[in-house]
Amino acid sequence: MNDLLKLVTVDQQKQLLALLINGPDFVSLSSAEGNVTYINQSGRRLLGIESIASTYKHNSAYVMPHEIERLQNGITTTLINEGRWIGQIELCHSTTGEPIPVHATTMLIYDERTNAAVGRATIARDLRQEQKALTQQQKLMTLISHSKDLMSLLTLEGKNEYINDSGKKLLGIEDQQDVEAIHISNFHTPDQIAFVENEVLPSVMKTGEWSGHFAIKHFKTGEIIPLENNCIRIDDPYTGKPTAIGAVMRDLRPEISARAAILEREEKFRTLITQAPVAIGLLEGEDLMIAASNTQMLQLWGKKEAIIGMPLLKAIPELKGQPFIELLGEVKKSHKNYYGNEVLAKLNRNGKQEDAYFNFVYAATGDDQIIVVATEVTLQVLNKRALVESEQRFKNLVLDAPIATALYRGKDLIIEIANPAMIGLWGKDSSVLGQSLITALPELEGQPFIPRLQEIFETGVTYHSEKEMAQLVVDGQLQRFWFNYTYKPLFDTKGDVYGILNMAVDVSSLVQMQQARDDFFSLASHELKTPLTTLKGYHQLLQEKLGFSDDSTEKKMLDKIGLQIDKLTQLIIEMLDVSHIQVGKMPYYASPFDLRKLTGSIVEDMQQIYPTHEIQFTSPRPIIITADQDKIAQVMTNLLDNAIKYSPQTTNVIVDIVSDDQYVTVTVRDFGIGIANENREKIFEQFYRVNHSNEKTYPGLGVGLYISSEIVKRAQGRIWVEPAEGGGSTFYVRLPLHINPF
Ligand code: ADP
Repeated sequence: MNDLLKLVTVDQQKQLLALLINGPDFVSLSSAEGNVTYINQSGRRLLGIESIASTYKHNSAYVMPHEIERLQNGITTTLINEGRWIGQIELCHSTTGEPIPVHATTMLIYDERTNAAVGRATIARDLRQEQKALTQQQKLMTLISHSKDLMSLLTLEGKNEYINDSGKKLLGIEDQQDVEAIHISNFHTPDQIAFVENEVLPSVMKTGEWSGHFAIKHFKTGEIIPLENNCIRIDDPYTGKPTAIGAVMRDLRPEISARAAILEREEKFRTLITQAPVAIGLLEGEDLMIAASNTQMLQLWGKKEAIIGMPLLKAIPELKGQPFIELLGEVKKSHKNYYGNEVLAKLNRNGKQEDAYFNFVYAATGDDQIIVVATEVTLQVLNKRALVESEQRFKNLVLDAPIATALYRGKDLIIEIANPAMIGLWGKDSSVLGQSLITALPELEGQPFIPRLQEIFETGVTYHSEKEMAQLVVDGQLQRFWFNYTYKPLFDTKGDVYGILNMAVDVSSLVQMQQARDDFFSLASHELKTPLTTLKGYHQLLQEKLGFSDDSTEKKMLDKIGLQIDKLTQLIIEMLDVSHIQVGKMPYYASPFDLRKLTGSIVEDMQQIYPTHEIQFTSPRPIIITADQDKIAQVMTNLLDNAIKYSPQTTNVIVDIVSDDQYVTVTVRDFGIGIANENREKIFEQFYRVNHSNEKTYPGLGVGLYISSEIVKRAQGRIWVEPAEGGGSTFYVRLPLHINPF
């Protein structure tokens, strides 16, 4: 500066000083030792110093603590030796202590006369803005060099100027390789170069940019790499003239392979659909185009493969007006699956209008597609309906039936159905429906019905009962009723009992009438027996008076009277027996006796009474059985009596006895009129007599065989009849040799 000062006038010097002092840079003056004597306004503003007075400090007070050492030694030494020091140093803000990097020039000021250093002058420039710009630039460079995309600068002559790290990697250039030395033809195929020259560069130069797909060639491997390229023209900010071309290129390979993967996935998905074992289809886009459908789905729709690729409504036009299209629209909008259960679809399948039912799901995928999975359940739905209808029909049938009917479901015997006749019979109202039988009819507790019903759930066997007494609360009173009823088990498809059908007929009045009749019979036969006994007594007296040898007409008449009295007595005994049986009071006293002997004596008696017939009887040995001898005698007499009575044209009757170690069987065979097959069971019923129309009528009440069968039952035996070969009938009475105690 000294040299400079010498060249200018004092005035000019003053002007120069004023320029320095009032300039934008920091200017300070200090003593030769470094004690600051002056800092200009810009300098004071930079350091935050308020007045000139407070500037009088040693220069070390103005630098950051870590700079003091350098200032006092290195810089001062340079200054003393060389007269000036130029460099960077960090000043310290006087109030905030903030470091202020500056570029400083310090010079020694010499006394012109003594040439001794008298002071120092410093000019410094604030570097903060520059440093900030530099940092930003560095950051930008870091960004560029670390960018995943290829970034490059090209001179207007088409030479590479800069390629970032990703770009180098992509192109196969080594880090240390000088990109400027590689011609761009190394990175392109000839036609790409032509493309660059004819299209890209003219466009960039003209419009300032170019974007599009592009390809480069790997420097080492020659692989062609597809890219997306954005080029811009870089203009000089001052002159506005183009200086370079910048390019940002993105490797398209990951994108292409991702797209290929998606395509592959879609293809796999389609294959999955076609090969799925359920009916499955894929609808795509606004018009629900059938993108895929397997054979099952086509069959379900009743359409041919040609519909694939068609919009749904075009492929299956009959869907118009049905809810499906709207549902699909909602699924697409909401992305919520829709589940259809037994939904009716009217389809035109293979040329036929059909009502079909489906279970299905509509599931929206993320790609504007809907997957449709469906199962046809038409048969099940129709079957279910038929079942419901048949159940309803059955219910109606039961409800309308004149016979009292109820259905109990489950072991709890819940009254599911009970028709008015049954409810009336119970003496209850319709509130019993849905209740368990025991809740509805608590009076059944202790009666046999509920255990019997429960047993049927185990056995599955139908139960019939006749004239069974039940006690029911009717009109608020526990009363006795008699029923004929059936418990019929109902089976489910597995063969288990799920319910019981109960049908009942109230036979109370019949039973009561029968009882009245039986009472009457019992009374009448008793009343008849007394005068008859008296008659028999007088008859015997008269016979004795006449003497046995008399064969006068009176004697013959008396014999006839005797015979009729015996017949009458027999009839009354039979009537009494029947009435005893009815009330369960038939007297029966079992004791051991010889059946052969008994049979023999009966045969003998009968032979005497009926000399018209010949009764054959052969029995090898005594047979001891335990039974009521009189009653068994009654059976034998009845059988012989019938055998003779119903053999008016023949005379032979054969009686036989066979036995093993358990049973003895007496057979009475005649050669008479025989018994028609349909009557073989019935003749053992009370009052049953075969109707012999046109022919002779045989006397009798029709109770002999009934009484016989009741007696045989009491003896734990069996009685039956079979047609005999050569005409007539054979009656069998089978009795156990030893009876089981009850
Ligand atoms: P009945 O007093 O009428 O003989 P039974 O009970 O003894 O009553 O017999 C019932 C019916 O069975 C008879 O009316 C008769 O029609 C038929 N019956 C019984 N025994 C014979 C027989 N040995 N041969 C043909 N019919 C017979």
